[in-house]
Amino acid sequence: MCSKLLSTEWGPMQIRSGIAVSPGVAIGPAFMLGVEDFRIPDDTVSVDAVESEIIRLRCALENVASEISANEALASKHLGKEYAAIFAAHQQFVRDPKLLEKIESLIQNQHQTPEHAASQVLRKYAKELQNLGDKYLAERAVDIFDLERSLLRHLLGEQREELSHLKAPVIVLAHNLTPSETAGLNPKFVQGFVTEVGGSTSHTAILAGALEIPAIVGVGDFLTDISGGEMIIIDGNEGRLIIAPDEETQQKYQLVQQRFRSEHQARQKYGLGRAQTLDNVDIEVCGNIEFPEEAKSCKKRGADGIGLYRTEFLYLGALKERTEEDHYEAYLEVLKRFPDEPVTIRTLDVGADKIPDAMMHVYGDKSNPELGLRSIRVSLEYTDLFKTQLRAILRAAVHGRIRVMFPLISSLSEFRQAKMVLRDVCEDLEDQNIEFNPDIPVGMMVEVPSAALMAEEFAREVDFFSIGTNDLIQYTLAADRSDPAVSKYYNASDPSVLFLVRRVLRAAQAADIPVSVCGQMSSDPKFLPLLLGMGLRQFSVTPQAVAPIKQLIRKVSIEECKELAKRVYELDLARDIENFLRAELKRFLPEENENRRN
Ligand code: PEP
Ligand code: MG
Repeated sequence: MCSKLLSTEWGPMQIRSGIAVSPGVAIGPAFMLGVEDFRIPDDTVSVDAVESEIIRLRCALENVASEISANEALASKHLGKEYAAIFAAHQQFVRDPKLLEKIESLIQNQHQTPEHAASQVLRKYAKELQNLGDKYLAERAVDIFDLERSLLRHLLGEQREELSHLKAPVIVLAHNLTPSETAGLNPKFVQGFVTEVGGSTSHTAILAGALEIPAIVGVGDFLTDISGGEMIIIDGNEGRLIIAPDEETQQKYQLVQQRFRSEHQARQKYGLGRAQTLDNVDIEVCGNIEFPEEAKSCKKRGADGIGLYRTEFLYLGALKERTEEDHYEAYLEVLKRFPDEPVTIRTLDVGADKIPDAMMHVYGDKSNPELGLRSIRVSLEYTDLFKTQLRAILRAAVHGRIRVMFPLISSLSEFRQAKMVLRDVCEDLEDQNIEFNPDIPVGMMVEVPSAALMAEEFAREVDFFSIGTNDLIQYTLAADRSDPAVSKYYNASDPSVLFLVRRVLRAAQAADIPVSVCGQMSSDPKFLPLLLGMGLRQFSVTPQAVAPIKQLIRKVSIEECKELAKRVYELDLARDIENFLRAELKRFLPEENENRRN
């Protein structure tokens, strides 16, 4: 990514470019997110919690053991078996029942937290080694400290400790933020963030939008140029990071920030009411959410319902398993805001970059995670987990217009299996005399090319489709959505992607079933006329995009969108399609261009 140096009186101003993933401007001091030592919570646990805390400890130890196995395999491959033996010794130590016994006894008898108990036991071992008077053994104490750190990392979850101690507004700068870490950012203090890695539709990027803080990802190496505390500007509209800005730049961006905020505020009114095109075609604009609380902001912004509820975020950052009641309450919270509108609950889509702590042992350090055990495949493998969620969905469906949707379906047999589990759950609920709604619509995400290619066949069996372009693009073009190194290959305008989207829309139309697009593509105004022209009538967008998308719908006619789509079908290069769509957008929104010039 490009970098520019300007000399100022108080230090060189640096400008870096990255991928803009959440709009707006943030100005504030740099807060470097490093790998600081962990602060161990010193409190005790209640008697009731002892059992679940012991489970948490066992999970963490299991995760550490998996990590060691992965390292062992790596060392064996690259360095030879003799080096790998070090890890085998670590493994033995972590799996030693005596170690577990000692830590558990402190939790059980003294009600210590697992963090505290583990740290105490491990440090005692390390001290004993250091006191044996043998230089070699004394050095092995370092290994124990390493294991302590790794165990604490798993116990304390993904949330890095320092983030929870913020007292003043900052701009977070990090090499990477996991979706769980991003979900844990407090927008009251974190005004924006910039990461060295990451892609435009990574879940970290999506969460930045949910938190409504400006963000840039995929900037490349820049952290070594920063010591922390210097003034930072994030231009989340243009994907620009400015380090140590000069006076003039600061003033300029303060104005941009004010203008963005007032425009954003003024635009909210467009979210209200249904959106119709100039030729009176009604278009549904629903919202995408990750957390139940977001339903409130979707409602405020005028969403016509919830088109995608990414329920896996209930698990991310959580240190314990979620119960049926946890799910049920989350769904009711969404229904509270949308009692009469459609609410589409997507079943768990864990795996790839979204791995709950409690499931870390399932994954270890697998390579190629995007093609690994993810999403519906996890649900079909761990049916208890799946059934717990389905029970809650069916029960909550008594209170509103819930639809259930399975993610990452890649074959008909997978969809049929998922439906079979749903039927089993209905039978269980019936046997147990528990109230539920057996008639909810059952749909699927179309986000794997195989599903798009088989759309006609699927359309005979599903109640609705929702096109997940974020994954559809990465799997069609073989470009990891989170990897900036391949971001130039990841392109929503690619004719192959548009071909698949069109194919799914046609299959849905022919079978007369509802279809929406819930990937980021539907939140991007430049694709709106094209999608309308292709026949899409239902959009599900990020909450922030509801108003601008409705505003644009009211400025176009279906007829001209169809014409525009025809012209796109004639183009065979992503770059030409992208440029054409940008130019068309300018034509539809002349006043926006005018504002930008002033
Ligand atoms: C998608 O893939 O387009 C989608 C909406 O799902 P997610 O971004 O959660 O993978
Ligand atoms: Mg997806």
